Amino acid sequence: MTKTHEPPGSAALLEWESPMHELAVAQLDRTAERMGLDENIWERLRTPQRCLVVSFPFRRDNYDTVETVFGYRVQHLLTMGPTKGGLRYDLDVGLGQVTALAMWMTWKCALMGLPFGGAKGGVRIDPRSCSSRELQRVTRRYTSEIIDMIGPDRDIPAPDLGTDQQTMAWILDTYSQQKGHAVPGVVTGKPIEVGGSQGRAEATGRGVISCTVDACRELGIDFSGARIAIQGFGQVGATAARIASHLGARIVAISDVKSGIVNEQGLDIAALEAWVAENRFIEGFPGGETASNVEVLEVPCEILIPAAVQNQITETNAGRLHCRLLVEAANGPTSLEAESILLDRGVLVIPDILANAGGVTVSYFEWVQGLQQFFWSEEEVNDRLIALMQRAFRDVLDLSKAENVDLRTAAMIRGIGRVAEAKRRRGVFP
Ligand code: GLU
Repeated sequence: MTKTHEPPGSAALLEWESPMHELAVAQLDRTAERMGLDENIWERLRTPQRCLVVSFPFRRDNYDTVETVFGYRVQHLLTMGPTKGGLRYDLDVGLGQVTALAMWMTWKCALMGLPFGGAKGGVRIDPRSCSSRELQRVTRRYTSEIIDMIGPDRDIPAPDLGTDQQTMAWILDTYSQQKGHAVPGVVTGKPIEVGGSQGRAEATGRGVISCTVDACRELGIDFSGARIAIQGFGQVGATAARIASHLGARIVAISDVKSGIVNEQGLDIAALEAWVAENRFIEGFPGGETASNVEVLEVPCEILIPAAVQNQITETNAGRLHCRLLVEAANGPTSLEAESILLDRGVLVIPDILANAGGVTVSYFEWVQGLQQFFWSEEEVNDRLIALMQRAFRDVLDLSKAENVDLRTAAMIRGIGRVAEAKRRRGVFP
């Protein structure tokens, strides 16, 4: 899309320079222009309100090696309430990436009507190269480095790529030790035993499939006969596969970091989960043909679910995808160029800020349950999640029709619109 004028504040983005931040800002600019957003608010939203970059020593188990590790926490928007967003451990983590992810959290929370601004954190390590003790040390040190920034009414981390319930339990413990009493509300996505919510671990995958089923109804695709390809077999990809196959869909391809597997007749997901529990990776699973994790994207199917990392669908492979429906379970899996190729080809793209919003929605439920010390059953959590997901899907779909825009633009118009209205009401201090 050609810009009619330079976006406000475009000279000031050097600190965040990275492909992911460029994508997030380009999406914002496009939407802001389309909705005629107030330029002062537009400029405020292009940069995060707070960023912390830390470096700290990390001792390996062998006691000889001490590495310097970089950690980040970015709070994009403090207008809506405490900030909220995951923590990722990955070698690609950097300030620009974490900032892009924090921006997406802002739109996601506002779209879902959750009382949070967006945040994200990260540590630049390869968690797969770490023992459990090493991960615990990194997590506790990172937590104490960012301790002044987080808290149940300040900023609440949660799991993301490379982190899980155990990571959250260590953060909770480190934070609570410093405060002198248990503070379970400092994180969400924690284990049930220390105040976690029923249904949180599966929430993102469950929300992904809720959107997928709704979109199939809209497109006239019979979900129970549909072929689905999924890139990623972590918490999100595996849950989505399990729920979709329970509902009768055929998972024709799936992959993890190392490799993928294809079976046109449909993979046995329970058997695959048992295999991965024993062997860690999909590699060697006897139930299909081996493929690479990029080939999985190009397998003939009605529904494609990227549930791994960013920037997987680009202008290079967008023309080769077969799907009619692309559901972004990962954050930022599709480049701007790829998205316009897909839209031209009539593919319906459910954007990340809607498709994967189930995770933060149940995080919100977890936070609320913790504040009230009153815990819900799994059924209650799931029912409320589905109700919010369906409402958001319907809202975005209706808005996209009314405004004649794609679903990402509609979702962002809704999210940014709510944030802008709140900013306008609060005014400028001093
Ligand atoms: N990391 C997840 C996301 O990208 C969940 C964040 C949360 O639960 O706060 O939405």
